Amino acid sequence: MSCAFCKILSGLAPADIIYRDDRVTAFRDIHPIAPTHILIIPNRHIASVNDLEASDESLVGHMLMLAKELAAQEQVAEKGYRLMINTGLDGGQTVHHLHIHLIAGKLARFLVG
Ligand code: AMP
Ligand code: ZN
Repeated sequence: MSCAFCKILSGLAPADIIYRDDRVTAFRDIHPIAPTHILIIPNRHIASVNDLEASDESLVGHMLMLAKELAAQEQVAEKGYRLMINTGLDGGQTVHHLHIHLIAGKLARFLVG
C-alpha cells in the first residue's frame, strides 16, 4: 500500500483522528499551517477531484457538511475558516488521496497551502 492516507485509514500509520464514520475520516494535519488544520478524506481511495464520479456526489456533500460540523466543534465557525482542495501538480497536491483542508485560526485568510 503506497498511499499515506490509506495507511492511516487501515491503522498502519498513526494519526490524530478526530472523526470517523462509514464514509469519511478526519484527522489533524501533521504539518499544520494554522492553529486549526484538519484533513477530511473519503474512506475509499479516490486520488483527486478528477477521479470523482457522479455516484460520489453525496459523499462529497457529506465531506463538506463534516467540514461545517468540525468548524463549529473547533469553535472557528464564527470567525471563519478556509476549505481547500488541491488538485494535481499545478494545484499543489502532494498526497494523491482526495482531501479537504479545513484551515482556521490567526491569519488563516492570508495562507496559501
Ligand atoms: P496537499 O498538498 O493538498 O496534497 O496536502 C497534503 C497534506 O497532507 C499536507 O498538508 C501534509 O502536511 C499532510 N500530510 C501528509 N502526510 C500526513 C500524515 N501522515 N498525517 C497527517 N497529515 C499528513
Ligand atoms: Zn489512499
